[in-house]
Amino acid sequence: MSESTTFPGDEIASIEEFEAGNNTFDDGDMVRAATVGEKFLDRKTRIASIKHPKTLSIPKVGDIIIGSVAAAMSSMIAVTVEYINGKPTTSKVECVCSTRNLRKKNVALINDIVTLKIVNHLNGTIHATIDEPNLGVLFTKCRKCGGKVVQMRDAIKCTECSWIDERKLSTSFGSSDFVRL
Ligand SMILES: [Zn+2]
Repeated sequence: MSESTTFPGDEIASIEEFEAGNNTFDDGDMVRAATVGEKFLDRKTRIASIKHPKTLSIPKVGDIIIGSVAAAMSSMIAVTVEYINGKPTTSKVECVCSTRNLRKKNVALINDIVTLKIVNHLNGTIHATIDEPNLGVLFTKCRKCGGKVVQMRDAIKCTECSWIDERKLSTSFGSSDFVRL
């Protein structure tokens, strides 16, 4: 597999090696790109195709995203973006969010569903903030037993084992319709 940006008419593979797939055409000699996009050469099926940029949605500065926490470290979390401004995305890009300035030990834990705002793109990394009332954890479970939790002021309490834990909760925490499909 190899990926690079193409423009319409770009040669992407020889027809001796690959068949023309999505968003490409075959000029009798070469498989060429029919659209701007990302070249995708599937060496197993021998099909060359172009992934259209519409499917490669990258959140922009100011966008509100919803995603699942892929990694939680002491001063930051990494989040796999699932929704951008309420719309599902298949590109599964990751953004990082600093949690250093929040006076909480557990801002969000791995697999929590969080909502964040994109603040900048720096060195190829998408940075987001969680430090606004509407931003934060939308869904989480008990760290001890995996049980359902309920909000207690700015903490959460497990309905199974009564473990009390902290998170940076969104003001939308607990509302089940946070994702509008
Ligand atoms: Zn529990």
